[in-house]
Amino acid sequence: MKDLTILTSTGQDLPQAPFMARHFIDGTYVDSADGQVSDRISPSHGVLVSQAALGGVSETEKAIAAARTAFDDGRWSRLSGKSRAAVLTKVADLIEAKQDQLAHIETLESGKPISQARGECGGAADLWRFAASLARTVQGDSHNTLGPDILATVLKEPIGVVSIITPWNFPFWILSQKLPFALAAGCTCVVKPSEMTPSTTAMLGDLLNEAGLPAGVCNIILGHGDPVGALMSSHPSVDMVSFTGSTNVGKHISKAASDTLKKVALELGGKNPQVVMPDADLDEAADAVTFGIYFNAGQCCNGTSRLIVHEDIAEAFVAKVVTLSKNVRFGDPLHPDTQVGAIVTPDHAEKIDGYVQNAIAQGAICVLGGAPLHVDGVGTQFYQPTVLTNVSPDMAIAHDEVFGPVLSVLTFQTLDEAIALSNNSTYGLSAGIWSNNVHTCLEFSRRAEAGTIWTNTWMDGFPEIAFGGMKQSGQGREIGSYGFEEFLEVKSLVMRIGQSREPWVTTS
Ligand code: NAD
Repeated sequence: MKDLTILTSTGQDLPQAPFMARHFIDGTYVDSADGQVSDRISPSHGVLVSQAALGGVSETEKAIAAARTAFDDGRWSRLSGKSRAAVLTKVADLIEAKQDQLAHIETLESGKPISQARGECGGAADLWRFAASLARTVQGDSHNTLGPDILATVLKEPIGVVSIITPWNFPFWILSQKLPFALAAGCTCVVKPSEMTPSTTAMLGDLLNEAGLPAGVCNIILGHGDPVGALMSSHPSVDMVSFTGSTNVGKHISKAASDTLKKVALELGGKNPQVVMPDADLDEAADAVTFGIYFNAGQCCNGTSRLIVHEDIAEAFVAKVVTLSKNVRFGDPLHPDTQVGAIVTPDHAEKIDGYVQNAIAQGAICVLGGAPLHVDGVGTQFYQPTVLTNVSPDMAIAHDEVFGPVLSVLTFQTLDEAIALSNNSTYGLSAGIWSNNVHTCLEFSRRAEAGTIWTNTWMDGFPEIAFGGMKQSGQGREIGSYGFEEFLEVKSLVMRIGQSREPWVTTS
């Protein structure tokens, strides 16, 4: 398409040699016993970015055993919160010092823009810092009025060994939404990144060692969902699984964990709506909708894949979004000014296009894009910014997670209709409303079925604020104090004072 803004390749900053990503078990980097590796070809540049050890059952068993031993002997779980906080703060400093290297490899493996990758890696350091502060806040309750001879307390303890399984779309960021919080609580961990983006997680091992995290407290295994992730989800020595990824795999994990009844926290897919009322600031709303759908090329759990706009303003509002869409800078992820990069795999690019073509065949009108995008000097694994109108709620594009830069537009007449459309989804991750009427915003916020509601903004997030989904978008919460609590177990302690207990058995 001629009228899009496309930044072509600078031809710079490609790797001279692939990064070698290895497992990190008991504080040491190791290869797979059978020497197997998997290659990651950059989705944008077609070059070999990394070769990662491909783990199997034996590496996963070793990692779980190391985490179990490290938890049980108390080398980390029995440290004071102050000592744990010191290590996590040091990791945050080291992440910041390595931010550019982390971002470069993250961009090449995922296809995301380099400026965004820098922001995510730098932001990840803040998550580590915030988690460090929580390490010193673990506290329970005391009960002092149960009787003069009784004192009871409710203690919080680390839950134990946690399996952490992450997706490819925000590899280092999502790792940092989980790992430092689990460590702050005193847990030990086995981590598995996506097979498509293993390197930044593997690089963390060095930083953990340098920061003084005891060996065995965090172990990293690289490899496929099956067998590595599956074993991490079912193993009897694991106490909890913290997973971010697709709803489908989340259900597998839940089943795998059920035999041992381990705790499962799931951060899954979404089909997130932004509702636009006629009284909203339409320029701001259009910008937020445009950001919401194209950020990370739409491959974002919080992506705005549904625009639900009032009938009276629909045409004018969509025209604004289309104009803005043409000014979004798509192109080479290594170009410093690129805002939207590549699609993660050729299969996924095909899947996105399949959804678009099916919707058009069913009567949707494509007012922008609707085809793969060619970026000179890079490759064809890109997709055009796409806006579809005349979408009806029964179309697959209106309810499936497309995970691409594709906006479906639906319309309404009343707030009740907007809320019903918004909730007409098996997902419930996030939802938003644009209106200058605070009553309208509050009404929507209370009735919308989603874990996060944004009013007159989109995707503002903070380490302090819990994140997670309702319905099939997940269970449990991440980050903030609620996310931290997920990694803590509750233990009640009841103490009798002064040998006042009445005997149960009478002997005379
Ligand atoms: P995915 O579910 O395909 O893979 C996620 C991870 O699970 C990978 O590490 C994979 O190797 C592993 N895995 C695969 N099969 C497994 C199994 N049987 N047992 C254990 N582990 C297994 O997801 P993806 O394509 O990497 O990521 C995209 C999905 O993640 C989207 O659905 C997106 O909405 C979701 N996501 C959700 C959030 C959130 O916070 N809610 C954030 C980012 C991504």
